[in-house]
Amino acid sequence: MPAACAKPTGSAAALYVADGYRAWLSQSALAKAARLARAAAPMETGGMLLGHVVDGEAHVVAVTGPGRNVRLARYTFEADRARDNRLVHRVWPRLRYLGDWHTHPGGRPVLSAMDLASIRETLTPDMPAVLELLLAGPPGMESVEVALFTMVRGEDAPLRMTGGGQ
Ligand SMILES: [Zn+2]
Repeated sequence: MPAACAKPTGSAAALYVADGYRAWLSQSALAKAARLARAAAPMETGGMLLGHVVDGEAHVVAVTGPGRNVRLARYTFEADRARDNRLVHRVWPRLRYLGDWHTHPGGRPVLSAMDLASIRETLTPDMPAVLELLLAGPPGMESVEVALFTMVRGEDAPLRMTGGGQ
């Protein structure tokens, strides 16, 4: 079972850690991503991770679904990022962007070279660390393996975080 804690919102969350970096992933956010993953399978899908940073720990409390240009999103990342950020501020004014999530239907919970390039592009002086949630599973995504990564600006590669009872 995932390690759970009582959050201020009342929803349970699982803790993931890597090298001193700590991130909490709410069960409701993970459940929504898993639902979207099944709905899109066998195609990949994804969106944003939204939440708060409290005492240096990221708390993912919501995920967004794919935009209209989802199939192009991986290739037109900068344009979609600007649109996504406007969306965040308008729809979730109290939440901030913490990273992205996406799926590997019929694939492994390992980041591809394109994934790594996309993650690196999100790192800026204002966004020195991001999370990447990867859901992998069979082609229909009836079950998912959860992999959470953190990428810190200036480091060579993302770290896969451990925890969550996975
Ligand atoms: Zn990928």
